Amino acid sequence: MKTLKRMAPKVGFVSLGCPKALVDSERILTRLRAEGYEVAASYAAADLVIVNTCGFIDSAVDESLDAIGEALAENGKVIVTGCLGAQPQKILDRHPQVLKITGPQRYEEVMASVHEHLPPLHEPFLDLIPAQGIKLTPRHYAYLKISEGCNHRCSFCIIPSFRGDLVSRPVAEVLREAENLVRAGVKEILVVSQDTSAYGVDLKYAAQPWRGADRRARFFDLCAALGELGVWIRLHYVYPYPHVDQVIELMAANKILPYLDIPFQHASARILKLMKRPAAAENTLERIAAWRRVAPDITIRSTFIVGFPGETDQDFAELMDWLRIAQLDRVGCFEYSPIEGASANALVEKSVPDEVKHERREQFMELSAQISAARLAQKIGRKMRVLVDKIQGSDAIARSPSDAPEIDGTVKIRKAKGLSVGDWADVQIIKAGAYDLEAKIESP
Ligand code: SF4
Repeated sequence: MKTLKRMAPKVGFVSLGCPKALVDSERILTRLRAEGYEVAASYAAADLVIVNTCGFIDSAVDESLDAIGEALAENGKVIVTGCLGAQPQKILDRHPQVLKITGPQRYEEVMASVHEHLPPLHEPFLDLIPAQGIKLTPRHYAYLKISEGCNHRCSFCIIPSFRGDLVSRPVAEVLREAENLVRAGVKEILVVSQDTSAYGVDLKYAAQPWRGADRRARFFDLCAALGELGVWIRLHYVYPYPHVDQVIELMAANKILPYLDIPFQHASARILKLMKRPAAAENTLERIAAWRRVAPDITIRSTFIVGFPGETDQDFAELMDWLRIAQLDRVGCFEYSPIEGASANALVEKSVPDEVKHERREQFMELSAQISAARLAQKIGRKMRVLVDKIQGSDAIARSPSDAPEIDGTVKIRKAKGLSVGDWADVQIIKAGAYDLEAKIESP
C-alpha cells in the first residue's frame, strides 16, 4: 500500500545581530523543528521567512531594514522579530507589508504568527529535535545564554527598555543545556548575557541539584560547574566587580579559559559616570594587575566608545594612558552615535564633532594594535592547544584560548594535513602579526 506523505512546511530564517540574538534565533528554530517545520536554505524554497533583526546602532538598523526588504522581494511572506522589532514604526514606515512584528525574546508571539500564516503539520515530529536544540554556530562551539535583560541603565543603551530587568535562567536548566551541548560534540561553550557577572542576583542565588550536589545560581558556582564539563568555557560580558576575582582562580587552575570579555567602554571616571556604567567606581587598573598576578596567561578583551558627549581632550588622554598601562590584549572601539530613546541624547549640546571622534578612534586603535602586536610577539616559541575552525588549502585556521570566534584573532597552522574542522591541535607558535598568529603542528 502506498503511504501518502504530506510535505513539511518550510520556513526561511535570517539571523542578524549579536550572539544574544543568535541564541534567540536558535530557540525559535528549535521550536519550529519541534513542531515539524523544516528550515529552508533559500528564499525560493521557503513558504515564509522570519528575519531576526538588530537595532543597536544606526548601521545595524539599516542592515536589518535591507534584510527585511530583500526577504519581501524574494519571498513575500515575512515575520520580523528581534531588537528592531521593539520599534515597529521604523519597520512599518519602510515595509508596511510585513506579516507581523515582535520584539526580542517573543518566541511565543513569533510561533503564534507562524501558525497563523503557515499552519504546522498535524503531528509534530517531536523526535526530529536533537536534545541540544538547533545550533546556528559550527558544530564545535556554541553560545550559552544564562540570563535575559539587565538591571543597569547605561545612558547610551536602550536594551533594558525592551529586554527588561535581569531574569536569570535556573542553574540546573543552564547546566543541562551545557551538558547536552557537550554530548552533541561541542568543544567550546561561550557564556553570554547582558551582564554575566550578575547571574542569579534576581533568583537570590537559588540552589538546585546537578550531578548529585546542590549548585547555586551564582556567577562563581556556575563557572565552577561548567568547568567540570571538560570543554573550553569562555566568559563574555563580565563587569569588574570584586566577586569576579574568585573566578580568576578557576582560570589559574585551568578549569575555565583564562579569558575575560569586559566592556570597559571608557577609563575617565567623569565619562563613566555620565555613561552610568556598572562598577564605574572600581579601580580597574589595580584589578587587572591583580588578575594577571593570579592568572598570568589571562587574555582580557574589551570594547570602548570614543566621542561620548562631553568627552574632552583630557578625558581622551586619560583613556589612552589607561590603555598604555592596562595593556589589554584585544580591543574594539566605536565612535559614539546616539540611539533613539537613550538618555545620553539629553547631552546633545556637549556632542563631540565627527572628525574629532574619528581622529580619537584612529589614535586609540593604533595604540591598541601596537599593544596587541607586542603581546602576541611574546608568544613566539610557545606551545599551546588550539581548536580548528576552518581548512584553507593545506593550512588550518584555528583559535587559541585567547581568541573568541568572530571577534578576536586566529592561529594559522601551516601544513595542517590530517586536521579537520572541530579538531584540537597541539601547536608551536612560529610567527606573530598585529592580531593573528602562525604555528606549526606539534602533534595532531
Ligand atoms: S550593562 Fe549597560 S550597556 Fe549593557 S545591556 Fe545593561 S544597560 Fe545596556
